[in-house]
Amino acid sequence: ALPYVRAISPYQPGKPIAELARETGIPEAHIVKLASNENPLGMSPKARSAMLAATADLERYPDGSGFTLKAVLAERYGIAQERIALGNGSNELFELVARVFLAPGRSAVFSRHAFAVYPLATLAAGGTCIEVPAKDYGHDLDAMAAAIAPDTRVVFVANPNNPTGTFLPRAELHAFLTKLPTDVLVVLDEAYNEYLPPELRGETVAWLEEFPNLLITRTLSKIYGLAGLRVGYGLGSAVVVDLLNRMRQPFNVNSLALAAAVGALDDHAFVAESYAMNRSGLEQLVAGLKHFGLGHIPSYANFVTFKVGDAAAVNQKLLQQGVIVRPIASYGMPEWLRVTVGSEPENARFLAALDKAL
Ligand code: PMP
Repeated sequence: ALPYVRAISPYQPGKPIAELARETGIPEAHIVKLASNENPLGMSPKARSAMLAATADLERYPDGSGFTLKAVLAERYGIAQERIALGNGSNELFELVARVFLAPGRSAVFSRHAFAVYPLATLAAGGTCIEVPAKDYGHDLDAMAAAIAPDTRVVFVANPNNPTGTFLPRAELHAFLTKLPTDVLVVLDEAYNEYLPPELRGETVAWLEEFPNLLITRTLSKIYGLAGLRVGYGLGSAVVVDLLNRMRQPFNVNSLALAAAVGALDDHAFVAESYAMNRSGLEQLVAGLKHFGLGHIPSYANFVTFKVGDAAAVNQKLLQQGVIVRPIASYGMPEWLRVTVGSEPENARFLAALDKAL
């Protein structure tokens, strides 16, 4: 194998429910999984019926250009379809970016404690990672701008960030963009954008005209509840989108995912309910953590990261009680755990299990 492939540590997903059920003998239905920032409301009903309708045509290849989904997104954001890239999850877009812009002798800049797929995609393309120390567990944009080397071609910024839940105000981000060389692509990963309160959400899409080197990525996996179907999209310049399209597989997003995404984007009631549930669930979790005297990082997303000291031991005790959260030692945070905001009873189960574990 290529030496840079050997250097990669594989992505560690949340523990699957079936695996824990087998290990502990706890029935699957009794297991609470709050480990992968999934939507506790499930999938949108509109998405489900659109997906089921699409099962009638599964002998056909998917629409390889994703025409209908792109039309919906183009209308929503007021941009041309040529400026929209579709991915098998937004993860695939990061991989395509890396394959288009990175190679041995080129580097990508990202923050410490940022999303794990940035280094994975960079390394898989043979690129070099420039990891910038974090500021209060969030991105230090000044340090990131200063870290850009002559061979840097990509900067990854997650806003809000996973696994820390930190948020960068629009004005700071905009100032950062104006500082960067135009031959550096900025991937602004907004997987959790829809969980921001409306007054913070702003519209970064309006910046695309000003910055042709900006690619905004979003996903149907979080508030839209379609993580299992794998759909993400990127909004950028027609030039960048064209490059990504050259690199992708012809049918990278499958028919069921395309149909469900169109249904989900139209389900405003579901999104509103998911948002409200997340707000109250975050409050519930934070109140519980405070009650136990545990520190946490204020979160702008659908999870909260909290400090427990011996996180591996506490995690083990949670697992024994059928509660799956996410240890984040691989993100350089061995004393912390990340819990996804669940439904009210799921959050309560988690807090009761944590109480015992402590
Ligand atoms: N970006 C961030 C910051 C994430 O946390 C995630 C999901 N864990 C993704 C992107 C990828 O999401 P998906 O590939 O499901 O679109």
